[in-house]
Amino acid sequence: MYAVIQAGGAGTRLKTITGDLPKVMVEICGKPILEWQLESLKKSGIHDFLVIISKNGKAISDYFGDGKKFGVSISYIKEESPLGTAGGLYFARDIIKDDFILCFGDLMLDVDWMRFHRFHKEKGSALTAFAHPNSHPFDSDLLVSDEDEKIIKIDSKNNVRDYYYENLTNAGLYVCSKEVLDYVAEPTKIDFEKVVLKHFVEDGKAYAYRSSEYVKDCGTPDRFYSVENDLKNGIIHGKSLANPQKCIFLDRDGTINKYNGLVTKTDELKLEEDAASAIQKINSSKYLAICVTNQPVIARGDTTLEELKNIHNKMETLLGKGGAYLDALYFCPHHPDKGFEGEVPEFKIDCDCRKPKIGLLKKAEARFNIDLKKSWLIGDTDRDIQTGINGGCRTIFLDTTPNPPIRFKDAKPDFVCHSLTEAVNLILTLERDDHD
Ligand SMILES: [Zn+2]
Repeated sequence: MYAVIQAGGAGTRLKTITGDLPKVMVEICGKPILEWQLESLKKSGIHDFLVIISKNGKAISDYFGDGKKFGVSISYIKEESPLGTAGGLYFARDIIKDDFILCFGDLMLDVDWMRFHRFHKEKGSALTAFAHPNSHPFDSDLLVSDEDEKIIKIDSKNNVRDYYYENLTNAGLYVCSKEVLDYVAEPTKIDFEKVVLKHFVEDGKAYAYRSSEYVKDCGTPDRFYSVENDLKNGIIHGKSLANPQKCIFLDRDGTINKYNGLVTKTDELKLEEDAASAIQKINSSKYLAICVTNQPVIARGDTTLEELKNIHNKMETLLGKGGAYLDALYFCPHHPDKGFEGEVPEFKIDCDCRKPKIGLLKKAEARFNIDLKKSWLIGDTDRDIQTGINGGCRTIFLDTTPNPPIRFKDAKPDFVCHSLTEAVNLILTLERDDHD
């Protein structure tokens, strides 16, 4: 498989660091960003590179040459005049005959590219965007996706957002099928996101691959130094899904949002005061933050899947305003007891995912390569603690909910805490003590 690297950008915002170098040649810990990218792709078995360069790209071809020195093969497409972020792809059509990766050259990253490609294949996608939640969704372009992770639309950051949204932003990495090259029919100035991605979204052939991996641009001096720090601390490589991940699983009601009976309407959801700040601490650690929740309100017919989606969008929106995000959320819509008025028969089943069963943990484990034994579950009921134990995780019981529906008595947690902040601090302190 080929990787096409868009390396045409000039890096004007980084001038204080780079001088006149192309952006991709900015050195982080002694290597140009582009070299870090090559190494990540090479680890996934990708050896063929097409690098799109502009007129000032000589520094790039001088450094990388034909790639032999780096154990890969590199050819170049040189744009005589600027062709935007997609126009240069026109020249790739004679070389690339199958799926390929497209990567913007100013991104520091480490990604399990084969996992990304597998997702593209499984969905039968024509164009798959690498998507992730970030700590400032309110001023980012967002991808809006459906239950099957198909992209329905791109929500511009310039829109007035008086609604709740999913925290899902476009990172600038794609798996493309050959169709994408066919679409770029002329060597003219074309914007990849505004024209090519938009076309495939409208055609219903674009998917969003939600991942927890590290992908950040270093386009300003502030970001540059924070990326350098993350590299030194092993965060960038550690978060690649080629490596087993550690996760803090969070129950929803009584853990992230205030427990106030079953939530059936968006208005009823209110975050715990410390939810965003506690989850933000998880986000800047080596742990993933994944919510796992039973929502029998669906099976009972007390609310709809659409309303539940909006409830979760509200949670993501509020967390995002507080600079925090969930890497993923999994819910069980089922309930085993039949025979009630208004129930939805298709969800009245004895499923594998209703906690304390571990179907939700297993889904997360498969998608994010999670090592459950190195993971934690935090929740406010006996059922949560039993779920963590059943999954082989360590557990923390949150003693926050007055009169919880199931009192903590049988399942024995590893620790008892009185707030989410206390629980997260405890895990991160133990982590430091482990030198793990
Ligand atoms: Zn279920």
